[in-house]
Amino acid sequence: MPTTTPALIADSATSGFRQGTIERRDLRPDDVRISIAYAGICHSDIHTVREEWGAAHFPLTVGHEIAGTVVDVGEDVTRYAPGDRVGVGCLVDSCGECEPCKDAMEQFCTKPSVGTYNSQGYDGEWTMGGYSQEVVVRERFVLRIPDAMELDVAAPLLCAGITTYSPLRRWGAATGRSVAVVGVGGLGHMGVKIAAAMGATVTTISRSDAKAEDAIGLGATAHVASSDRGAMKAVRGSFDIVLNTVSADIPIEDYVRLLKPAGVVVNVGLPMEPYSIRPGALIGGNKAVAGSQIGGLAETQEMLEFCAEHGIAATVEVVAAADVDAAWDRVVDGDVRYRCVIDTSTITPAD
Ligand code: NAP
Ligand code: ZN
Repeated sequence: MPTTTPALIADSATSGFRQGTIERRDLRPDDVRISIAYAGICHSDIHTVREEWGAAHFPLTVGHEIAGTVVDVGEDVTRYAPGDRVGVGCLVDSCGECEPCKDAMEQFCTKPSVGTYNSQGYDGEWTMGGYSQEVVVRERFVLRIPDAMELDVAAPLLCAGITTYSPLRRWGAATGRSVAVVGVGGLGHMGVKIAAAMGATVTTISRSDAKAEDAIGLGATAHVASSDRGAMKAVRGSFDIVLNTVSADIPIEDYVRLLKPAGVVVNVGLPMEPYSIRPGALIGGNKAVAGSQIGGLAETQEMLEFCAEHGIAATVEVVAAADVDAAWDRVVDGDVRYRCVIDTSTITPAD
């Protein structure tokens, strides 16, 4: 018999949330049952429910920045026990056998991988995310949250943390290298903290100067308003890495101009329009435009340890279940400082 758990449920792209219950499967031998304390609000949740990426499967509970405590484990589980502090990110299953899985890039599983929500599991069931009080996940997809970290500020690391850590590592953010982070939102603010902790010199690029003072507090040494053409021109040729976290379309070529020779614009923001870029903008300067999608399980655990070691985690606003619709509007307005996390204990189903 599946159990039910309180959850925030969207019935359509425009319905907003109601507080109800969803089902969680019985424990399989390799499953972990987690009591969720906090779930971060990622812009991907919004793109998904509002069907900005295509049709979604309703009714739908989203959320892939999950932090909580283990309450029960299946008989074959060896790594976790009740009471352990754990997290779940964007993935809940993969085949474990294909080349990407063997290369620790489970997100690119060829079967393919199963997302934490709006995804069909290998059993045919649709997955439901973390805006809920409990989740059941295969042991292999459960991460350990370091003791030094509170659960509310840890939750956003499971998506925003790994999505910025992975490209910064891959493209060599380190002492002596300069990084620009474009968009100071959930992903962006983590990008700033992580790049600074890796030793890079960090500049934030935001639509205005409204977040300039905060950016310095997060670890940046300079801030540029992209609306200020003179300021953008002044930083041309300045960066080894431009990490674009913007959720909307931006003129990519303007950001390629900011690169030093051999630099890279690495995109993690995921709007739907094609990038417009002339070949000459890349060829002149041996420049690259790249993309990056979350990270594998081992790298996600590595990121959590890195953040704990450097004393960093997300800067959060804790919101109650009743305020999630309003929080989404604030995310879209770029108004959140810098990640909303839902206190899931406030979900009180009427039914
Ligand atoms: P977010 O918190 O809303 O931050 C996005 C930031 O983009 C805003 O804070 C804002 O920064 C800037 N922005 C928003 N609208 C803009 C516009 N019209 N023009 C210019 N700048 C604008 O979102 P998030 O949760 O960080 O997610 C960011 C993007 O990454 C989303 O598209 C999301 O789906 C995607 N994502 C990708 C992955 C992946 O694996 N690649 C993983 C998670 C999320 P300023 O206020 O500083 O201008
Ligand atoms: Zn996300």
